[in-house]
Amino acid sequence: MIQNKYKILLVEDESNIRNLVATMLEAANYQTILAGTCSEAKSLYTSYLPDLVILDLGLPDMDGMNLLDFIRRDALTPIIVLSARTNEADKIAALDKGANDYVTKPFGAGELLARVRAALRNARFSTSVGRVSDGRFELNGLEIDYDARRVFVKGEEIKLTQTEYNIVALLSENCGKMMTYAAIIKAIWGGVSQEGSVKKLQVNMANIRKKFGDKPGEQNYFVNELGVGYRMNE
Ligand code: CA
Repeated sequence: MIQNKYKILLVEDESNIRNLVATMLEAANYQTILAGTCSEAKSLYTSYLPDLVILDLGLPDMDGMNLLDFIRRDALTPIIVLSARTNEADKIAALDKGANDYVTKPFGAGELLARVRAALRNARFSTSVGRVSDGRFELNGLEIDYDARRVFVKGEEIKLTQTEYNIVALLSENCGKMMTYAAIIKAIWGGVSQEGSVKKLQVNMANIRKKFGDKPGEQNYFVNELGVGYRMNE
């Protein structure tokens, strides 16, 4: 049997959730390495160098954020955070510290596996899933010419303002990754985000989505996680 499966380190202290997720992953042909504490996860991470880490933040010995820092000191291994719905601030902090994505408990196998696939793909093609060689990005009918700063959907040019273009380019460069409001604001306007800057971002995003013809409840290019940020769909 050829052993070329992706290795996933699953860090979760609740054994019922851990077993459930491990079963989901193994059924999808991933190899799992299981840890129940942060310190156990650190040593398993170092010995196995997994391709991806699924990390519960609430661990008995230390905050899961410790493992995030530990990994991000020298590796870009994709990290998906598992978090409870009530911990919005934790999710945002984890994304800003370099987590690739998060899944909110309770979640279904389909959702988790989609995030795992996206994070692995994203890591494989570095930060630019749809980017093709000559400064262009192509994905499901969306085309961006980074040199000319022009955007097309199914061959039709979308006329964007400078700011709108900058946001679209940023999200495309991080395609599949959830970008927090703070991270987008910092990249587009610089500095720290304030109440007004989130509003400014939301207004720009609303205009972008209108120009792209995004409709609520449909498969669109942009996804908004309320209170967290935006992601460009793969
Ligand atoms: Ca926990």
